[in-house]
Amino acid sequence: MIRDLIRSELKDFVPYTANQVPYRVKLDANESPFDLPMSVRKKLADIIMEGPKLNLYPDTDSIELRKTLSAYWGVDMEGIVVGTGSDELIQVLINTFVGKGDKVVCPVPSFGMYKITTIIGGGSTVEVALKEENGFEYDIDEFISKAKNEKAKMVILCSPNNPTGNLLSLRDIEKICSMCPNTVIVVDEAYAEFSEESAVELLPKFENLIILRTFSKAYGLAGIRCGYSLSGKAMADEINKVKPPFNISSLSQLVAKLVFEEREEIDRRIKYLTEQRTYLAEELKKIKGVTIFPSGANYILVKLPDAQAVAKELERRGILVRGYGDPVLSKYIRITVGSKEQNDILLEELANILASN
Ligand SMILES: *Cc1c(COP(=O)(O)O)cnc(C)c1O
Repeated sequence: MIRDLIRSELKDFVPYTANQVPYRVKLDANESPFDLPMSVRKKLADIIMEGPKLNLYPDTDSIELRKTLSAYWGVDMEGIVVGTGSDELIQVLINTFVGKGDKVVCPVPSFGMYKITTIIGGGSTVEVALKEENGFEYDIDEFISKAKNEKAKMVILCSPNNPTGNLLSLRDIEKICSMCPNTVIVVDEAYAEFSEESAVELLPKFENLIILRTFSKAYGLAGIRCGYSLSGKAMADEINKVKPPFNISSLSQLVAKLVFEEREEIDRRIKYLTEQRTYLAEELKKIKGVTIFPSGANYILVKLPDAQAVAKELERRGILVRGYGDPVLSKYIRITVGSKEQNDILLEELANILASN
């Protein structure tokens, strides 16, 4: 039987499925409510009419995009690697550094791909709990001691953390980078545009630090699958040995670059969404039975009675939010910050559901 042929560590895996139900308001995947800026659509249309050279393989080194990113961040181009989403970069990082039996320290609750990717890569995770009673704060000393005791190859940190929304201080990142010099320290900053805090300034000090960024959230480009890493050259040189050639399509490279250059529009969108985050948080607090956790990202973690039933009922009413099957998060839902109109629909329906319980 085919099932018997699968690697033993993957026997319990289930395929990733995205919710495909019809909806009015989609607030379950931390996507942006804003599609491609009109100015970019026009530029793109012109380029396509002139001949986009799709008969040729894409630039395997994403030179133009990396130049743009390098100028913005003040990070040498040699330290920037582009991936098909930061998801691919997580996979490339693990395949570069984590061998059979190697350990990866990561937070729980956090982004589920860290564990899945580690196991697929043949390693195993050592989890550090972020506790609700501490506001899900990182206990960096625990990360350091687990990394040392387990001789971990890698520590993955997520800031702002998905789904809890809290940040890790630069001082803590600095501490773990210096205390664990023989461990790769990954800081996943998928949502950092919404918090204005970044570990990028630490890069010149630490060869073992690598930061992951994505176009999928603040830039509203989840559909093109594009992300990048920022690190020193030594780290990038190693991961480039594993990164698949021609991984980013020509169109994705082009769109990412054009949108990244629309600074004013992007900044306007980020400002709008952070203001909506404040609005949504304030309004959620007014609903009886709801507890919210402060967030530096474009989502809010919400604790409420019968969270899973509420998520189902919202879905029945055409509003998608993220519910959780796993026991650690079963009391919570995660709501993406949407447009004012979307947020108002969510707020109204949620208040109705909770009032009728
Ligand atoms: C969404 C997300 C990513 C992945 O984004 P890509 O679309 O693969 O770039 C990475 N990390 C976290 C924490 C995320 O929430």
